[in-house]
Amino acid sequence: MALTKEQVLKQYFGYDKFRPLQADIIDWVLYGQDCMVLMPTGGGKSLCFQVPALMMQGITIVISPLIALMHDQVQALQANGIPSAYINSSLSGAERFAIERQCKAGEIKLLYISPEKLFSNGYLDWIKSLQVSMVAVDESHCVSVWGHDFRPEYTQLHVLKSALPNVPFMALTATADRVTRKDVMTQLGIPEARVFISSFDRPNLSLSVQPGRNRLKTIQKFIQERPRKAGIIYCLSRKNTEQLADSLLKVGISARCYHAGMSTDERAKVQDQFLRDDIQVICATIAFGMGIDKSNVRWVMHYSLPANIESFYQEIGRAGRDGVKADTLLFYSYNDLIVRKDMLAQSELPAEMKEVQLAKLDRLKQYAEAEICRRRILLSYFNEEVDHDCGNCDVCKNPPIRFDASVLAQKALSAIARTNEKIAMGMLIDILRGSNNRRIIEHRYHEIKTFGAGRDLKYEEWADYIQQMLNSGIMDIAYDEQHAFKLNNASWSVLKDGKKVQLVRFRPFEEKQAEREAN
Ligand code: ADP
Ligand code: ZN
Repeated sequence: MALTKEQVLKQYFGYDKFRPLQADIIDWVLYGQDCMVLMPTGGGKSLCFQVPALMMQGITIVISPLIALMHDQVQALQANGIPSAYINSSLSGAERFAIERQCKAGEIKLLYISPEKLFSNGYLDWIKSLQVSMVAVDESHCVSVWGHDFRPEYTQLHVLKSALPNVPFMALTATADRVTRKDVMTQLGIPEARVFISSFDRPNLSLSVQPGRNRLKTIQKFIQERPRKAGIIYCLSRKNTEQLADSLLKVGISARCYHAGMSTDERAKVQDQFLRDDIQVICATIAFGMGIDKSNVRWVMHYSLPANIESFYQEIGRAGRDGVKADTLLFYSYNDLIVRKDMLAQSELPAEMKEVQLAKLDRLKQYAEAEICRRRILLSYFNEEVDHDCGNCDVCKNPPIRFDASVLAQKALSAIARTNEKIAMGMLIDILRGSNNRRIIEHRYHEIKTFGAGRDLKYEEWADYIQQMLNSGIMDIAYDEQHAFKLNNASWSVLKDGKKVQLVRFRPFEEKQAEREAN
């Protein structure tokens, strides 16, 4: 007797009921139709093809670009008594041969294969010779140049549909805006596929953005306020993860780094300790979290700006998978943005793809600089309609207060003009606040008219306002001249034509935090 989908769910996965959409998607596949499944990370995409794979005659082919993940997924399936295997470049010839034989003999229900392998050594013909029940393309946004993670080897996948015209296809992804979504279906040769979209909203995740000053201190405080609560800090480079983990260890926080440069054993060990709550904090590059299934991650931080909203959303999505409240914090500075732009400029992407990625980066900048509900921005990015503010982001909890900062801006710009556009942040603030340090005397900056004109503001207030001025484009910064500030047309209209400047009233982190708790 064949099992029902509910019985398969219970017997193989131990769950009592399907999540919204899962049952509909499974029925659709069993009905022999193509579909595209959009669910956020942790939404439960895998079951959408794993359950029908067990119900249908034959073998389900799962295309996945993440070789590291295949192993974990197949291991988990096997642990549940599901005959499954993977073929990728990590296997020896003998191992591969054994698996091929099992597939041929009909002993395997799910075969994971990397796109590279699929298009090598006549694999396609071999697959055609099997009784294929379904094809699932995981991380399917990789086929589209509009996606955030385009993989050239994915573009051949349309061949698969022509080779298996009567087999239902399922494209899965956690992140795709409308344009990417449409392109994925075209590229895979399933333009008419039915699209299943579950909401991307994760209301239990709080959203906040902090200026990138004093990151270490902010992080320390943030963690110390959450004793024993597990969290992940995403960093830009391997070196960053190592340095940050070291600094946190020094102040008694149990932190470890995790990146692709570590050995498999080391990584497995760290991952394991984190899963068992022996380590509180992981400082990781994006390599971390792809496959891990830890439901009680209570917070995720971004030490540096991610590349785009897709990556950002996927990474914060690793927090609060159990549905309990979890916090996210993104550090943002103008400098981070420039670093990302430089990385793109230097990358080997073709020009038109650079442009797509730049536009995506710009959307993330808008998120970081937002003065409206941040969740609205995220959800509208995924083309989801939102009719209310979330009440669980820093902007909602603490709406910005704007004030006329024209005089303040004039003081700063005038100091830049009078020092011939040669000074950077620290010196500018010292001049405005009238500090008598050696370098000021050396350059006779204490003799200029604006020296001490901004004594009424604290150092950090000036730093915040200058950052805002940069972000809003009323002055520039020359990264190739030791970060010296430069005046532009907008600066001169402030200085000469009395153009008004509005800035957001500075509030220290502690104060914001206190207000947030009071609300
Ligand atoms: P995704 O691939 O969308 O990121 P997964 O398929 O890895 O998500 O599922 C995330 C977690 O949710 C897994 O631990 C999975 O076992 C669990 N899960 C999926 N569907 C259900 C369900 N119907 N009931 C309970 N847990 C589920
Ligand atoms: Zn909000």
